[in-house]
Amino acid sequence: MRKKIVAGNWKMNKTLEEASILASEVKGMIEDELMSGAIVVLCTPSLFLLPVRNILGDSKRIFVGAQNCSEHESGAFTGEISAAMLKSAKVPYVILGHSERRQYFGEDGALLARKVDAALKHNLTPIFCCGEPLEVRERNGHESLVKKQLEESLFHLDDTHILSVVIAYEPVWAIGTGKTASAQQAEDMHAVIRRHIASKYGQDTAESISILYGGSVNAANAKELFASKDVDGGLVGGASLKSREFTEIAKAI
Ligand code: PEP
Repeated sequence: MRKKIVAGNWKMNKTLEEASILASEVKGMIEDELMSGAIVVLCTPSLFLLPVRNILGDSKRIFVGAQNCSEHESGAFTGEISAAMLKSAKVPYVILGHSERRQYFGEDGALLARKVDAALKHNLTPIFCCGEPLEVRERNGHESLVKKQLEESLFHLDDTHILSVVIAYEPVWAIGTGKTASAQQAEDMHAVIRRHIASKYGQDTAESISILYGGSVNAANAKELFASKDVDGGLVGGASLKSREFTEIAKAI
C-alpha cells in the first residue's frame, strides 16, 4: 500500500526561534493526535534543517525535508547544498521542481532530472513537483504539460528508482492564491499522472507511488481533497506555518 504523506513547505519563512517553536508544537500535536499511519514531513529552510531534525528526534512519523538540492556532487558552487550533505545530516526528503524554483530560478526539466538523480544517488526521497500555470489550464493544455514534466525529469529512471519518488501535483494557479483546485479537478489530474506512470512502468508500480496535492490546502478543505482515491496526501505551503492548522490537515488524511 502506498504511503500517505502530508508535507509542509515553509519556504523562506520564520526565524530560528520561530522555526524551533513551530517544529516542537507540530511534533507534540502529531504525536498526541495523529491516529493514522500517515507520514508528516517539515520542509524547512536549509539553515533550520539540523535544529528541526534535532527537535523531531528519531520519530517514525515526522521527518525533516529540504526544499531544494544541487545537481552537483560537490565543488565550487557557492551557496548550494548537495544531496550528500543532506544525507550526511540525516535529512531524508527533498522537494524538487517546486514551481517557484522553476519560475524564479529558471529550473527546467533537464536540470530537474539531474537533481532527481543526485537525490536518489544518496537515497533521499525526492518530492517532485509538477503542475500547470493558469494560462495553460485555460487553453486545456494541463494534461499534456504535466505529462511532459514527468517525462522530462522522471521517465529516465529505472523501475526501481521511480518507486523512491513522491510526486506532488501543484497547479500553479492554486499555490499561495487561496484558490484551491476542486476535489474533482485534483482527482482527475492525479488519475492522469498515475495512468501516465502506468503506461511507462506498469500498473503495479503506478499504484505504489504516492501522489500529493498542493495548492492552498487548509484545514477546511483538506478532508474533501484527501478523500479522492488517487490523492495520497498534500504538500502544504502557507497553512504549514501554523501548528494547529497544519496538524488538522495532517489528521484529515
Ligand atoms: C506550496 O508552496 O507548495 C503550496 C502548495 O503553497 P500553498 O499551500 O500556500 O498554496
